[in-house]
Amino acid sequence: MYIRPFDPWKSKLCTCPFKYTLNIYTGCDHACVYCYITSYIPKAFRVREKEGLLPKLERELRKFDRRYIIALSYSSDPYPTVERHLGITRKVLELFKRHGVRCLLLTKSDIFERDLDILSELRCAIGITVTTVDARKAKLLEPNASSPRDRIRALRKAREAGIPVYARIDPIIPFYTWEDFDETLDALSFVSHITVSTLKLRPDIEKRMRAKFPELMERLGPLYERGERIAGYRYLPRDLRMAILEEARRKITERGITFGSCREGYTSFPTCDGSHLVPL
Ligand code: SF4
Repeated sequence: MYIRPFDPWKSKLCTCPFKYTLNIYTGCDHACVYCYITSYIPKAFRVREKEGLLPKLERELRKFDRRYIIALSYSSDPYPTVERHLGITRKVLELFKRHGVRCLLLTKSDIFERDLDILSELRCAIGITVTTVDARKAKLLEPNASSPRDRIRALRKAREAGIPVYARIDPIIPFYTWEDFDETLDALSFVSHITVSTLKLRPDIEKRMRAKFPELMERLGPLYERGERIAGYRYLPRDLRMAILEEARRKITERGITFGSCREGYTSFPTCDGSHLVPL
């Protein structure tokens, strides 16, 4: 089955409402330094097409319970760079339209702008992840993703087309993306919902972070040493993490935007993932 229940490793800190997920591609070539899919997908930064995806999906969608949402995608981006010429995600959206599927889309690309004609006819919400609006820092963190400015421009167009829009500021990295939080928030002030999440380290993520950001990791290393270990991830120390989340929540809600947090054991309202934005 390509459409599967979303199950974030049964993390006790996950507060997602029940939903399904579909990974249109295997792997993702945005190659984000902090990406967690490298812990369970071999050659995760090399994108592969899925065999027979469209006909199999068509069969699955005939039986799909349309009360539920399908999230695109949680173990890949629905718009890796190859989607620009392959157009498989566009074909999936056409199938969603034909079968009346409700959909929650999340990306670090601006390619979805191409598909706004279909997306505006779907019951969907579109989200972008923006870790920082600083283009230089974002390029180091997410080498092959669209620039933050392009992602935000495309999301504004989605909003102008009448589609509910949200954002993730994820991960928040102390001494790095956290320093730009106010500017990032200002640039995203037109969205309805923002989900935040602090950086969580697994050994593969830590290895890439140390190789790319040795000085930053000199500062972060001792913090994570003191932090909690939850579901195979190293978290920041709880007091620091809660202080960051509280400040983020205050700044987001002050702007009239609803707040969610992801795998933090912290408050979210009305949902952690923005799925409340998807029209019924
Ligand atoms: S966009 Fe998401 S799935 Fe793709 S490399 Fe970045 S974190 Fe991983």
